[in-house]
Amino acid sequence: MFSYLHAFHAGNLADVHKHLGLFLALSLMQRKETAIACFDTHAGSAVYDLNSAEARKTTESDRGIQALWQVRSKLQDPAWQDFFSIISAANGGKTALQYYPGSPAWFARLRRRQDSLTTFELHPRESARLEAWGKRQAARVYVEDGFSGLLRCVPPREPRLCVLIDPPYEVKHDYRQVVDTLANAWRRCRHGVFLVWYPILRERYQDTLIRGVEKSPLQKVLRSELLFDPEPVGQGMLGSGLLVVNPPWHWEEQMNTLLSQALPLWGVGARHEQQWLIPE
Ligand code: SAM
Repeated sequence: MFSYLHAFHAGNLADVHKHLGLFLALSLMQRKETAIACFDTHAGSAVYDLNSAEARKTTESDRGIQALWQVRSKLQDPAWQDFFSIISAANGGKTALQYYPGSPAWFARLRRRQDSLTTFELHPRESARLEAWGKRQAARVYVEDGFSGLLRCVPPREPRLCVLIDPPYEVKHDYRQVVDTLANAWRRCRHGVFLVWYPILRERYQDTLIRGVEKSPLQKVLRSELLFDPEPVGQGMLGSGLLVVNPPWHWEEQMNTLLSQALPLWGVGARHEQQWLIPE
């Protein structure tokens, strides 16, 4: 337990895929004024130093955000520019990229006055950092299990809901627990937008999650996968997967468009595949 530390992986290809999906979902949801309750069930420590000993040990961010950052001026789509402006703000506007925002920081940067942010984290070091960050950002931080914590909090008081479920999958049981938590939370708030990140592994542990979602009562589930080619990235991952339940209007086309603009320039050898797992 707790051998996983996100500092080793922050800013890698999978992180960029996940945070792009989250950024797009929340930005599109915010086209309506009504308040959104945001939940981050496995939050990590919110901000990562890409020059830390952990990050330099794996160098995963070099092929991820650092490579993308080099070509940012060629990605003129306003959504890409907004995405980069959030990373730039985390670096005080400096050109060299040292700090990378974790998922709670993406939520916090995008959050409007009417939106709330609730995060969960269990790791002692990560939760201490998250709590200090949460005080500055007026985000709720719970040092407790994010699966049961989410179920305690939904349905929220706010009319709309956006949830990121991003466990470390250190234990295989996480795949099953994601399905059960997702299905339970969705029963309590059927219009909620839920994003679930998962690794694509040669051992195909992710099949438990995919088949479980297919067999569940969930509806409108889109699957976006970034498949790495030729080499796996960190921990032998073949790719990065994202399930989006109730994707906001235009999420599907925009995710495809943004990744098809970036992938030829990014130079990382990855392709994007997207399809409905459970159609509308
Ligand atoms: N969501 C973060 C991001 O995108 O920046 C990365 C999170 S990392 C993949 C998973 C985190 O979940 C780790 O920091 C780990 O300590 C934490 N964790 C593990 N089990 C947990 C649980 N049952 N409830 C809440 N957090 C947990």
